[in-house]
Amino acid sequence: MVAEREAMVELQLRARGIRDERVLAAMGRVPREDFVPAGVRSRAYEDAALPIGEGQTISQPYMVARICEELGLNGGERVLDVGTGSGYQAAVVAELAREVHSIERIPELAERARAVLRGRVVVHVGDGSRGLPEHAPFAAIGVGAAAPRFPHALYEQLQVGGRLVVPVGSRSAQTLQVIVRSPEGPAVLHAVPCRFVPLIGEEGYHAG
Ligand code: SAH
Repeated sequence: MVAEREAMVELQLRARGIRDERVLAAMGRVPREDFVPAGVRSRAYEDAALPIGEGQTISQPYMVARICEELGLNGGERVLDVGTGSGYQAAVVAELAREVHSIERIPELAERARAVLRGRVVVHVGDGSRGLPEHAPFAAIGVGAAAPRFPHALYEQLQVGGRLVVPVGSRSAQTLQVIVRSPEGPAVLHAVPCRFVPLIGEEGYHAG
């Protein structure tokens, strides 16, 4: 699977504009096949999101890389990953930062991710749209599920200069927003079209 992973980095990521060499190297190290169910293991390096059970998906490699690049990490940060899912995004972030917390609302997924991540990431169960105030502030927060608008609680848990990367839009189509915390208030940097499963919670969508 190493050759497939290298091909993913070159063809799906570098060729499409991912520039951060640390992100490319991290994506080349983390075995995506370990984060998908046995039934879809042979498809682990497809250019797509894949089902992980509970109606959820592991994100497309390009979106994982893009979120990581937008987080702007250089190795010393404390980071929050919202929507653990398979744990894949959290594992890549763990290659790029010092301390990673990840929060998932579905306990079965959190349990499985915890087993694969083996202590490299602290996995919490709860409503990540409200953040993780007991571990704030964070230098960066990445969200792997779509919100109707950017969750204010997450913005509040950023340190000044910190970055929130979150898909914002309808349930079916969003743009990836990058919001920087500044003394003057939130600055939305730019937005890339994307499609994620919904963030369900107080500052997300309602269940159902
Ligand atoms: N980055 C993950 C993406 C998983 S899909 C990966 O690569 O596998 C998004 C996940 O967000 C799903 O597992 C879903 O259950 C979870 N989720 C949705 N709303 C949430 C919320 N309010 N708090 C925490 N997790 C949430």
